[in-house]
Amino acid sequence: MSAPVLEISRSAFRSNVQAVRERIAPSDLMLVMKDDAYGHGVDWAVPIAVECGVEWFGAYDVDTALRIRALSDGRIFAWATSTPQEAERAVSAGIDLGVGSAGYLRGVIAAAERLGVRADVHLKIDTGLHRNGFRPEEWDQAVAIAREAEIRGIVHVAGVWSHLAEASDEEDDQSRVAFLSAVARLQDAGGSPDVLHLTASAASWWRPELRGSLCRIGAFCYGIRSADGPHLDGVRPIARLVARVTRITDQGVEVGVGAYHGLPSTLRGVGVGTPRGVRRIVRVDADTTVVESWPGAAAGDEVVVFGAGEQGEADATRLAEHIDTVGEEILTRLTPAVRRVLRD
Ligand SMILES: *Cc1c(COP(=O)(O)O)cnc(C)c1O
Repeated sequence: MSAPVLEISRSAFRSNVQAVRERIAPSDLMLVMKDDAYGHGVDWAVPIAVECGVEWFGAYDVDTALRIRALSDGRIFAWATSTPQEAERAVSAGIDLGVGSAGYLRGVIAAAERLGVRADVHLKIDTGLHRNGFRPEEWDQAVAIAREAEIRGIVHVAGVWSHLAEASDEEDDQSRVAFLSAVARLQDAGGSPDVLHLTASAASWWRPELRGSLCRIGAFCYGIRSADGPHLDGVRPIARLVARVTRITDQGVEVGVGAYHGLPSTLRGVGVGTPRGVRRIVRVDADTTVVESWPGAAAGDEVVVFGAGEQGEADATRLAEHIDTVGEEILTRLTPAVRRVLRD
């Protein structure tokens, strides 16, 4: 049985990155690469992004940041709270660190002191999501600790950031007010951050007034729309999941991709692309998926589980909507048993 393949279009990725950059200008793009570039692979994506002029990368964890560092001299932001050893490796590799608690801030300062180099930190204000970040009442203390170290030359407060709930425009507007107030308090204390960043894909695209000088964007660069979201001009899926017919049975056509490859077993009923147009998934098994038959179906026929719609199939977001999740989830769940193949 031939392995299923995630075919990735470099040109689609390139044009998405360009479309996003044009849309958010004059803000800059931080290309978010968590979960191995949303399942597509960091290693090929970084050099293309660099060619496109991307100067900031968002890594989440320090390991990913170091993988990106091996491929780029750009600025790399890792925002997971990390161990002292990880923080030390990050600081010595010139990785910018997102910091949202006094304990971690002190740990990063200590790491920089041990190494004798300056750490670039981005202080996170909790603007309502309550998912890490200094609470407004903790902010002045965080600023005081960071500024004291900055005056000693041990850290540079390179950024202020937060993450929006994106539950309603009103809430996000309130978050922006809290964010700007935190920035002002840092400036009052003598801080002068290089960048301010608050928004991810959707808010960066649709709500220009919320953008900071930098936008942290993953999904839209990989062509993943928001669930139930509208079409995005100039942005298209970059990946197609392709599998081959292994067997024809009484119940339908068996295709060589299943739960073992990361396909959610709840996908029944979703349309996939076949040589004779769209057919529905009957059932997802461990390593095969049964699809409604078509005239002349034969072993070896190509089935596109999701993609760019060329064979009538849905994109990853459409699949995700069917099971009440988001497109990112479909892509990042694909296991290494799915071969990633790069196309122009
Ligand atoms: C994942 C993530 C992003 C990017 O979100 P997208 O919707 O994929 O653009 C930005 N910021 C943080 C903190 C994230 O975790």
